Amino acid sequence: MIIGVLALQGAFIEHEAVLKRLHVECFEIRKPSDLDRRMDGLIIPGGESTVIGKLLVDMDMMNRIRKMILDGMPVFGTCAGMILLARNIVDGTVGSIGTMPVTVRRNAYGRQLGSFSADGSFGDLGGIQMRFIRAPYVDSVDKGVEILSVHEGKIVAVRYGNQLATAFHPELTDDDRVHRYFLSIVESSTC
Ligand code: GLN
Repeated sequence: MIIGVLALQGAFIEHEAVLKRLHVECFEIRKPSDLDRRMDGLIIPGGESTVIGKLLVDMDMMNRIRKMILDGMPVFGTCAGMILLARNIVDGTVGSIGTMPVTVRRNAYGRQLGSFSADGSFGDLGGIQMRFIRAPYVDSVDKGVEILSVHEGKIVAVRYGNQLATAFHPELTDDDRVHRYFLSIVESSTC
């Protein structure tokens, strides 16, 4: 199994570190030709969704990544990655990949005081620690979207087919279970 990690901006190194801990091969996607490499899954990190979105458009990578996801490639987006995957964004100024039928609200916890940790639960995994950094949350979901995590009444993790998105940053904790959950999606899509 090999995972491509979008490495244009943001917290991609932290995802690579988790994959390394799990002995999963990965490579950085920095330019269009990197998308030609074989990959079984893609991670879109946290960062600044407006910046990543603009770079994806400017570098002619947005449409290609959208097509790969629509063709079934598993993808995991954290925070800005979740915003980029969302079909609708409340303050819709971000060019997005838009493959997940959800509506997200950017900087939903406020810009300055938006960084905090909380205990929550995630699907069948049970209790997890959630790190939020100027995070979005999901306002509403369309049919077919599975809600995996809710924090104080707000949806913070969703799955739609092979697409997984979290408003929080599992890559910033020692707990690898959310990544392993994503890798299980990748595994079942490749066999
Ligand atoms: N607030 C950022 C955005 O709108 C996301 C923050 C993050 O990824 N940690 O893109």
